[in-house]
Amino acid sequence: MRTDTNPLVLVRNLGILAHVDAGKTTVTERILYATGTIHRRGEVHDGTTVTDFDPQERDRGITIFAAAVSCDWDGHRINLIDTPGHVDFADEVERSLRVLDGAVAVFDAVAGVEPQSESVWRQADRHGVPRIAFVNKLDRAGADLDTAVASIRRRLHPAPLVVQLPIGTEDRFTGVVDLVRMRALVWADGGDGVEHTPVPDELRDEARRRRRLLEETVAELHPAALEEFVDRESLSADTLAGALRDLTRSGDGVVVLCGSAYRNRGIEPLLDAVVAYLPSPLDVPAVRGTYDGTEQERAADPAAPFAALAFKVNATPTGRLTYVRIYSGTIGKGDAVWDAGTRRAERIGRILRVQADRHVRVERAVAGDIVAVVGLKSARAGSTLCAPGHPLVLEPPGVTEPVVSVA
Ligand code: GDP
Repeated sequence: MRTDTNPLVLVRNLGILAHVDAGKTTVTERILYATGTIHRRGEVHDGTTVTDFDPQERDRGITIFAAAVSCDWDGHRINLIDTPGHVDFADEVERSLRVLDGAVAVFDAVAGVEPQSESVWRQADRHGVPRIAFVNKLDRAGADLDTAVASIRRRLHPAPLVVQLPIGTEDRFTGVVDLVRMRALVWADGGDGVEHTPVPDELRDEARRRRRLLEETVAELHPAALEEFVDRESLSADTLAGALRDLTRSGDGVVVLCGSAYRNRGIEPLLDAVVAYLPSPLDVPAVRGTYDGTEQERAADPAAPFAALAFKVNATPTGRLTYVRIYSGTIGKGDAVWDAGTRRAERIGRILRVQADRHVRVERAVAGDIVAVVGLKSARAGSTLCAPGHPLVLEPPGVTEPVVSVA
């Protein structure tokens, strides 16, 4: 358990990665709905999902432009960065990956790993982005979690850590057994609301067998878990959860969950897993940059000199919005910043947190945060913004240190 009280511990900068059609937009929209960010469920096919707010996107039915949306879950702030799934937008995927601390990779339970899921997975590997896998569309005819997991193991090569057992198949998929806590989660008809119940009798043996498998895999990969496993021949829920968190953050394993975004099934446990296993900005390595040949490092410290990466610029009725990921320092309205690429001074206008289709003004934003800034004139996607007198160009993507848990 962490003892520090830095509020950054409660932030998750999250991306959703997927092959086109696996359900990224639907998962994103259901997350916004589950977190109370939006109050009505939209459907992708009628163009009402909130992340698809560009008309061109609606027309083409693919998510083209990344947008960052903030939502709250279990006392945590999740900044959701929409990452294009289409192969034509590789640069944009690349920029989104730079600003993420963790991601959910969505797979289709019938198709399993598809070519684009594989390429975006490799990109995320290069950026050292820890991931959780969500096997979606479990309601579809022919959907099978085990086959999808086998394709993850075969094509992506991480150790899959399957933490759920589906209850029912295809259109009778009604819940999951949580193998960590050994309890069932059953969704209400229509998909809104989840009930915790004991594991159904007919699934008890299978659930025990699968938990054993999960424990053995975890013990093989995690020294502390191995110690407890050898001593007691089983793992407590807390040890298992702690080991799953460490393995996720080190990239040695990938936690696998399942659901049906379309039917709004599996979203709450997915959000719980995001909060439990994926890292906060404090858990990721300091970013590196250079200026005039001098190398520097910036840790997620609000008191350090300001450094941020602009990763998206949108023209909106509110003005020119520059989405930035702040790596160190603090900014407030009116502050002068320096664009280290163009060597030009800029001034911060309003700072906005984007909540679905609403913009909420904030006075200040700190290291670890993702916000939109109004008033920047020349910053482009990829620009480094820094404190005047502390120039720095953040390193281009490619080489990242493995993520190490500091919890
Ligand atoms: P994206 O291209 O990855 O953003 O995928 P979308 O979210 O646009 O979904 C692609 C299609 O799959 C849409 O027609 C969705 O309604 C459908 N879809 C998404 N999730 C599910 C699901 O859980 N079950 C089923 N049966 N269809 C789904």
